[in-house]
This record gives sequence, C-alpha cells and structure tokens, in this order.
Amino acid sequence: MGTVNIKILDSTLREGEQTPGVYFDSHIKLAIAELLDEIGIDIIETGHPAVTDEIYSTVKMLAGKQFKSVIGAHARSVRKDIELALDCGVGFLGIFYCVSDERLNGVFKKDLQDAIEKIVTSIEFAKKENPGLLIRYTPEDTVRSEYKNVITAAVAAVEAGADIISIADTTGFMVPGTSKNMYDYVTRLKEDFDKRSLNPLIAVHCHNDRGLALANALDALRGGANIIDASVLGLGERAGIVDLAQLLAVLTLEYNITGWKLDKLSDLYNLVSTHSGVPVPVNSPIVGKNAFTHCAGVHTHAAAINPMHYESINPELFGKERHFALDHMSGIASVRFALKQVGISDLEPETELLVLERIKSIGQRGRIVELSELPHIVETSKHYKRIIK
Ligand SMILES: [Zn+2]
Repeated sequence: MGTVNIKILDSTLREGEQTPGVYFDSHIKLAIAELLDEIGIDIIETGHPAVTDEIYSTVKMLAGKQFKSVIGAHARSVRKDIELALDCGVGFLGIFYCVSDERLNGVFKKDLQDAIEKIVTSIEFAKKENPGLLIRYTPEDTVRSEYKNVITAAVAAVEAGADIISIADTTGFMVPGTSKNMYDYVTRLKEDFDKRSLNPLIAVHCHNDRGLALANALDALRGGANIIDASVLGLGERAGIVDLAQLLAVLTLEYNITGWKLDKLSDLYNLVSTHSGVPVPVNSPIVGKNAFTHCAGVHTHAAAINPMHYESINPELFGKERHFALDHMSGIASVRFALKQVGISDLEPETELLVLERIKSIGQRGRIVELSELPHIVETSKHYKRIIK
C-alpha cells in the first residue's frame, strides 16, 4: 500500500461520553486530552459546550492549552450553540443538521430549504467571527438520507465556508462489498463536488452496530476520505465507533504512516477504561491482555524460535512484549522461555517437568500462572518427592 494523507479525529470526550453510564470529570478529560496530544492525534473533539456549564468550562480550558492537536467542539445549527463554542476558543467546529425529508417534516416541521438556510446562516456566522476556524458540516444519518438532499445541503455548506463534509453512518448501516458501501459513497460525493469545482475535505464517522466500523472507515479511505473519526475503546452511542488503537495500528502497518507515539496507547486505554468503567477486553487487538500472548504448545514452540510464525504484528511497535501463557496448554518450550524471563536457568530436566506438571494442573482449574509465581513453583518443585510408588 502506498502512503496516504489521513487525519485522525478522536471523539472519546464527545462521542465517548455518549456511552450509556460514561462520564469523565473535567480533570480526567484533561488527562485524556494530554495523552491524545502526545500520541499525535490531529483533532480532539471535546464536547458540546451548550449542553452544560461543566462541558463549556472544560472545552474552554482544553482550547486554551498549547496542544499540537486542534481542539474541537460540537454545535447544533443554532446561533447560541455556535457563540458558546466560539467563546471557548476552539480551532474546529462541528455543525450538524439533518437533511432527510422524513425527519425534517416529521420532527422539525420544516423542509430542506429551511434546513439549508439554517445551516448556511450558522456556517457564515461562525466563519465571519473566526475566519481561521475549521468548520465541519455533518448531514445527520448521511448515508440513509436522500442523496440529492445530502449533496444539495453539503454544497450549500461548502459555499458558505465549511471546510469539511462528514459522512455519518450514524446507525452502523453500511457493509463493505455490498450495494451500501462507503467506497462508492465517498467516490460519488467527491465526484459531485469536483463537478462544481469544490474541494472540501471528506470525513467519515462510522458506527459499529454491525461490527464493521473500522472496515467501513478503511473502505472510505480507499475512496479518498481525508479524516477518520475514532475513540478509545470505540466508545460511543450503542455499539460505539471505530476503535482508535486498531485504526492507528492498521494505518501504521498497511499505509506506512509514521509519527504516532503508539507506545502511549496502553496508558491511554488504561486511563479511559478506569474512568469509563468499560474494561479493555482481554482479546482486544493491540491493547488487550492477550493481544501478544501465545498459548497452545505448538504455537509457543514455533513462536519462541521465530515469532512471525504466529504473529503478523510486532508487539514492540506498541511498547508491548510477547508473552507465553502458562496454563494447561503449555509445553516445555514455553516453560523454558518463561524461566529465562525470570532469570532461572540450569534447572534439572526432572524439575523442569515437575514445574510443567504443576503449571498444567493449575491451568486445568481455569487459571493462568503469572510469571511472578514461577520462582516459587520452581522452589516447591525442587522439594517435591514422589513417596508413593
Ligand atoms: Zn456518532
């Protein structure tokens, strides 16, 4: 794969807080933003200042930090929302409004022209107040809305000064390789802008309702998308959105994009997990406890000789280590490897076997033996005598 120019927008503090039961205190938001900045995230979406005083104050505090990341806020297409966001001093503003006839008529008792007027007025106002502001317009539930409405509103938004158009798969509805796919959607939208000599950046916001958020985001990238939204642990409404660590891993490994401090991802995930109450799944790629742990005897034997036999990702890239689980599946190769890790060598073969036996017996009871237990198991095994013949 060649190199691509892609920006990452993290929405842990905005979308992530829309996870049922998740709330981050202001100082935790600051700690999360510091790590996102250190990792090298381009845009940090921090919240919707019109919602509470607390969010307003936090967004303002974060925007005042000397981060390399651009700090962003969310706003409805309402003057008060935009004024509050501008007052926070953000560098990025995400404005949203629906464009589907059904929602406009049913919920707002409006038509598309009314909606476009609101969108255009909002964008023109924000741009006039702060010409340097990056403005993104999102037609809500873009991919399920009438395409002609989307393109009409998006063109009006760009002509009014929007820099970015976001394609929102608000309900995780798209499936790569079918007739409803992101590649075709992005391609078509870009062509339609091109015909009008407009060239906004295209962002994608993919929800994970079908477990395809990352696949859809990569499909969009292939179609020419410029910005991908993600969050730590994929936190967000319902099944959430694209998982940040998985996205950065794929972009690093397959698209040769460098510059992110990937070894900080574990700290970030631990912090967010602790304060969201959402555990990091043990089998989560990159950050999960088992992500680089080999288990079955034949795997550990082969992987100890050459890790690439059973790995396609080097753990060191993420500041992680390869592990060999000590449990009922272990063989003598994993025991020897683990012994070396704790600095024990020159064990009698008979003691090695006793250690293995003990590990297997603990494993059969459904527990993994920790490396820290190993010296004690060795000591115990040395004293073990078979008295019943
Ligand atoms: Zn969302």
